[in-house]
Amino acid sequence: MCDCCGGHTPPPSESTCCGGSSTSRADRTATPCAWFGHMIENCLEHATESKRQGKPIVCIMCEYTPRELIMAAGGVPVCLCGGSADTIPAAERRLPANLCPLIKSTFGYHVEGSNPFLEMADLVVGETTCDGKKKMFELMGEDRPMYVLELPQKENDADSFARWKTELARFKKYLEDEFQVEITPERLCEAVEVMNRERALRRELAESMQADRPPLTGRQLLTMRSTIAGIGEDYRQYEKAIEMLRRRAVSGERVDGIRVLLTGVPLVHGAERVLHILEDSGGLVVAMENCSGLKPLVDDIDTEADDLMQALAEKYYRIPCSVMTHNNRRLDLLREMVKDYRPQCVVELTWQACLTYDVESNRIKRLVEEEFGLPYLHVETDYSPSDSARIAVRVEALFETVRANG
Ligand code: SF4
Ligand code: SF4
Repeated sequence: MCDCCGGHTPPPSESTCCGGSSTSRADRTATPCAWFGHMIENCLEHATESKRQGKPIVCIMCEYTPRELIMAAGGVPVCLCGGSADTIPAAERRLPANLCPLIKSTFGYHVEGSNPFLEMADLVVGETTCDGKKKMFELMGEDRPMYVLELPQKENDADSFARWKTELARFKKYLEDEFQVEITPERLCEAVEVMNRERALRRELAESMQADRPPLTGRQLLTMRSTIAGIGEDYRQYEKAIEMLRRRAVSGERVDGIRVLLTGVPLVHGAERVLHILEDSGGLVVAMENCSGLKPLVDDIDTEADDLMQALAEKYYRIPCSVMTHNNRRLDLLREMVKDYRPQCVVELTWQACLTYDVESNRIKRLVEEEFGLPYLHVETDYSPSDSARIAVRVEALFETVRANG
């Protein structure tokens, strides 16, 4: 967003203005790029100060967990998902090697005690998404305070939804008892308003990519996120970024590239390699359907609803993740996104050993090729850069097909 991040070609992955050594708060708040370039530092500062004020730090690992409930209980929700390959060897001493890197990386931080957020956590929420995560939480729970949140499995199913609503009521009660606080309707409404605002700001940023020639790269957009929800300065910086993009629209500054829609698993902080390969090869990731993109942002919660817990449960029940069966909403979301973002191809990313996304990729491939008539590429990888050259070759072939299609 600042000058070096606003060029017409994708910036280098370690732009000095996005990750430089000046880290005073005044320097960091100068521009959205400077601010989000120091995201972990900002979050650490926020978590440390919150902890000092007696606020509980609650780590979560899935977008199904309503951050609103944690915030209404006075807590700070922190995303725990690990994106580093460095912690995987430590994890593999206790976990099978043939497991998703996201799970292993997260568990490796736990084994090494090297994630400061986890070390200050008062509670970890273990969501029963996929089997690997569910069983990893059993091991992590031997040493950490853990609450297991049981997720729904079936979409559009009244019994499944009723069970989910009960589960959220139980989670609310647990937070109240654990942190000695009453989650009143007013407190919950306040937290919902905060999260609605966060989703709206991030949606607006993402929607700027609908332009024929978008004002920023997918890499720049992905940088503008936070491990912790509800940080006031994040919101000020999102607003500043939106304002800059409006000015850029007037001045005509634009980025070019083959328009790519990226779907599949989330690109957690530190695991953005595939997006970088796509943009270094001449692509422009105009939209991400995954949990690092629009998937958790599309629905808000109606603060005027008669039963806010019901509205909360409905919003999260609608998340179109592959852990659901069937997961038709994901196909519907992709249909909407193809209409709005007009990609020239679709790339699906699956972390190795992520069975739900891997199996579901068959339906996505058919949807993309047969219904959308677009070229499709499925990339299965882990956090190791060893296959980067091979992925780049496949991306190059995909882009050749796009060019040949005109
Ligand atoms: S992809 Fe699914 S399991 Fe992973 S964070 Fe998103 S909702 Fe949760
Ligand atoms: S990417 Fe797949 S295997 Fe990994 S944690 Fe998410 S759902 Fe589970």
